[in-house]
Amino acid sequence: MSKPIRVAISGMHCASCASVIEKTLNKNPHVKQAEVNFGTEKAKITFNSETINIAELNKEIEPLGYSLKEDRQTISNGIEKLEELKKMKVNIITIIPLAAISIVIMSWEILAGFNILPMVPSSWMGLFHNLLPIMATYSLFVVGRPYLLGLYRFIRHGKANMDTLIGLGTLVAFLYSFTIYSFSDLLRPFINVEAGYYDVTIVVIAFISLGKYLEMRSKLSTGDAIEKLIGLQAKTALVLRDGQEVEIPINEVILGEIIIIKPAGKIPVDGVIVSGSSYIDESLVTGESLPIEKNTGDKVMAGTINTTGAFNFKATQIGSETMLARIISLVEEAQGSKAPIQALADKISAVFVPIVLGLAILSFIIWLVFGTPILGFSQALSYGLVSLVGILVIACPCALGLATPTAIIVGVGKGAKSGILVKDAATLEKLHRVNVLVADKTGTITKGQPELVSLQNFSDLSDNELLTILSSLESKSEHPIASALVKAAKEKSLTISKVENFSAIKGQGLRGQINGVEYFAGNLKLVQELKLSWDDSLIEIETNKGRTPVILANKDQVLGLALVADPIKPEATAAIKDLHKMGIEVVMLTGDHKNTANFIAAQAGISEVISEAMPVDKLNKIKELQAQGKIVAMAGDGVNDAPALAQADVGIAMATGTDVAIESAGITLLHGDISKVVKAVRLSKITMRGIKQNLFWAFIYNIIGIPLAGGAFFPLFGWLLNPVFAGLAMGASSVSVVGNSLRLKSKKL
Ligand code: ADP
Ligand code: MG
Repeated sequence: MSKPIRVAISGMHCASCASVIEKTLNKNPHVKQAEVNFGTEKAKITFNSETINIAELNKEIEPLGYSLKEDRQTISNGIEKLEELKKMKVNIITIIPLAAISIVIMSWEILAGFNILPMVPSSWMGLFHNLLPIMATYSLFVVGRPYLLGLYRFIRHGKANMDTLIGLGTLVAFLYSFTIYSFSDLLRPFINVEAGYYDVTIVVIAFISLGKYLEMRSKLSTGDAIEKLIGLQAKTALVLRDGQEVEIPINEVILGEIIIIKPAGKIPVDGVIVSGSSYIDESLVTGESLPIEKNTGDKVMAGTINTTGAFNFKATQIGSETMLARIISLVEEAQGSKAPIQALADKISAVFVPIVLGLAILSFIIWLVFGTPILGFSQALSYGLVSLVGILVIACPCALGLATPTAIIVGVGKGAKSGILVKDAATLEKLHRVNVLVADKTGTITKGQPELVSLQNFSDLSDNELLTILSSLESKSEHPIASALVKAAKEKSLTISKVENFSAIKGQGLRGQINGVEYFAGNLKLVQELKLSWDDSLIEIETNKGRTPVILANKDQVLGLALVADPIKPEATAAIKDLHKMGIEVVMLTGDHKNTANFIAAQAGISEVISEAMPVDKLNKIKELQAQGKIVAMAGDGVNDAPALAQADVGIAMATGTDVAIESAGITLLHGDISKVVKAVRLSKITMRGIKQNLFWAFIYNIIGIPLAGGAFFPLFGWLLNPVFAGLAMGASSVSVVGNSLRLKSKKL
């Protein structure tokens, strides 16, 4: 078995199409799993690539009216859709006037019946009745062709979808009208030959086609976030080859070559600056609003824009490896994934079509059997037909299929614009139910860029010698504390010594040999472990000021004490308040000293603190909260918190560097700070609320529409839904669902 392949599917008109395709593909013995998404018009298929290929799979679904092809270019898909949209527009433009005339005459006749308007002039009526068959024929066989094809496929292959329902409904109305007009003399004794339904055929097809057109147009713009991201990619790059500046297409850039960036230029690939410096606007990729200063050695990202400086950089990631390319594929993947909440809608729409067909026929029979003795055959037949057509038209589950995916597409895209990358729809769904956020202190609540504030020397060495030893050891570590010490040494122009036998001591610090002497650096636990004599009153005082102690020792004695400070992020306090307001409990988790942790927590407004935690303690804390029935999100830097992030219901990785594993966490926050966690939760809530509203709108039309169209209220109130309104309601339901999803775009995070 190979890994899943994503394909684009065309020809789908509704959620039931998706389930028909899914079933057909899954029946194939070479296919392990197929998942079809109506919202994105894509499928994820896992199949045995040695025994079958995409072309052969396509042959299976082609007779059903769909086609399947490898999904390589989102943009060309967009172009295809635009073409289809244009064709639809022509149909709409021609059918709308026909429908308008029909509606005007219809309403006029009704109003004249109530003596509100004078009768329609009989010459107009005569002309209208002569033109009606032609108008209806055009509507059904030209504009309504897709629906007739749906009916044809149902007859040939037994696969029904929404087109089948519309096709059957409008064809029945057409054929009935055709029959009574053609054989009016013969039928006059039995039925009312004046009551034809040509106008119903025209108006229903017009409304449904208009609905489809509007739906498709909006659907195109639900996915525009991804097109914007793709648009960020530069087309060319200016490279240095043989001492010459040459402009080449971006896909010809070679790994490791030098790229020249002029003022206001776009960064074409990922890399590291080798000379020059500038401020770079990363807002379109990461959502970070202020330009960021970049100097030699700093990383730059494809898709970001240089401001006024100039620099050269070395290409380190090209093509699909760049951060931007990875973000694009992540967003695409997430937009196409299914939210668990959709499972219900899928199940319903799969059984809906056959049930509705049955219901429509049943209601027709009931009208004839029970209506004839009371109303007479002619009237019962007429009502029966109206019910049949009405039910077929109104019951299409197309809005149901759009409800979840369109909201997910908008939600995921909206997130990406603000630097909130969501791995899949399931994560986005889960996030809105989270009630505890466990936050790592360093980098999540604090700035994550500690500074050395003081260095106390208890040894015979000079201060500089002490700092050299300490910073040399730390130069091997990835912990944020380490960078503070290395930076301090650099500022004093100290040279880093060679470290041998280095190892990190989990939750405590590190050890290593310099010039044959073994050193240790870390927290109090480390000193206790080494059983060194040490008066910790000094640490007690300093930690109460929010400083983190780093003790340097050898096997025999403590040599010095460095104190680093990592102030809280300015946004943290407000963000914690927002989280509390949303009913989310915040727990701060850190390996740092108790006093330091409490100091920071107090500043941030966090009351629950777990300090001096070993990595395994962090994991256990998450498990413990989960055992209490809480739904836990964990926000951390993702490097040393990986197990806890994986254990949490939603893992939120705060990405500060550029080489983050965006594919591994449930949610990745680019340029993350805790206020983005708030935004992510809001995004999830907004999206889920949108989905629920959509599902409501999709269901309500069907729930009210079916009994109304069937005539269930007729015996009580004399209500029977005119199929024209069924068509209107049908079009409106899809449009309102997609429109509601689009509305999410403008919501503030
Ligand atoms: P946290 O990221 O929450 O601080 P860690 O498990 O990474 O948790 O670290 C726990 C503690 O171990 C730190 O607070 C620090 O006291 C000590 N420590 C870890 N790494 C280093 C290091 N490179 N240098 C000095 N101390 C360290
Ligand atoms: Mg950490």
